Amino acid sequence: MSRYWSKLVKSLTPYVPGEQPKINDLIKLNTNENPYGPSPKVIAALQKEAADTLRLYPDPNSDLLKQAIGDLYGLNINQVFVGNGSDEVLAHIFNALLKHDLPILFPDITYSFYPVYCGLYEIEFETVPLTASFEIKVEDYFRENGGVIFPNPNAPTGCLLTLKEIERLLQHNLNSVVVIDEAYIDFGGKSAVNLVKLYPNLLVTHTLSKGRSLAGLRVGYAVGHPDLIDALHRVKDSFNSYPLDRFAQAGAIAAIKDQAYFEKNCDQVIKTRELLVTSLEKMGFEVLPSGANFIFATHSEYDAESLAESLREYKIIIRHFKKPSRIAQYLRITVGTNEECHSLINVLSSIL
Ligand SMILES: *Cc1c(COP(=O)(O)O)cnc(C)c1O
Repeated sequence: MSRYWSKLVKSLTPYVPGEQPKINDLIKLNTNENPYGPSPKVIAALQKEAADTLRLYPDPNSDLLKQAIGDLYGLNINQVFVGNGSDEVLAHIFNALLKHDLPILFPDITYSFYPVYCGLYEIEFETVPLTASFEIKVEDYFRENGGVIFPNPNAPTGCLLTLKEIERLLQHNLNSVVVIDEAYIDFGGKSAVNLVKLYPNLLVTHTLSKGRSLAGLRVGYAVGHPDLIDALHRVKDSFNSYPLDRFAQAGAIAAIKDQAYFEKNCDQVIKTRELLVTSLEKMGFEVLPSGANFIFATHSEYDAESLAESLREYKIIIRHFKKPSRIAQYLRITVGTNEECHSLINVLSSIL
């Protein structure tokens, strides 16, 4: 703390990302990265981009990338917004579309960046408790609000809502913006993207970090009604005209176009997830049903934090959240390769 800090900065509680330790031979199951590398076509596109043209600014509007995303869903480019990771896209959404007189609503257990954005942009929020089985009940959101946001599947629980439930929420919430954060939708869920054609207050966000194996490139996007997208552009162009550099644009276009590679990887992650769940359940873990590339598990006889610490001694890192206390006995484990998950199971059986 310093007397030179603004009042706002003094009040902030920043988000703490999962660690990226500099340790060799680590089995890294703590930040939901994809265990498989990006498409070879992405690597080729990046190599091509390492050229004299780097002296020139990139396209400030990322039009070719927006076109590729639009083609994927049958949307016009004025229904697409891209940013430096979906975290940046979300930040602009909070600033442009969720800051109104009434508090916004999100679950009590959810992506912990949401309250951080509320702090930064001075947005009031109310949390809505998940059910005892950690599910979102859409009826709980049928009331006046300044906006609604949650991930589907939810994080860090992995629980998935059906499209029918999302649509029911939209039908009861036409007066404010509803944001569905589909960071993990590629691992078996049904996307709400097509609903943006019917609901002018719906925004759906995606990231290339998880399903498309590009956490290091920092690209995310939102799709929605042109008026919502226009609001995001107004904020973006009041903040940074060039959030996506030349590499990010070229790599993301190649990734979006190589649908076959991406689907094959996601299918493999889903298969490994099912194996991991079965093995953990055999060892006495209770695992929440997951529609994501991670699972959320608890063991009635072992303390979650101590388990995470023991695994660390074997160079396996997973994520433990101390707060809220309702999840303090749960562990979030990213689905790695089959080999990584076998190592995890072997080490766990020696610990238990
Ligand atoms: C990972 C994640 C994001 C952010 O993704 P980036 O595109 O890497 O910034 C957004 N929302 C949720 C729920 C996530 O888990």
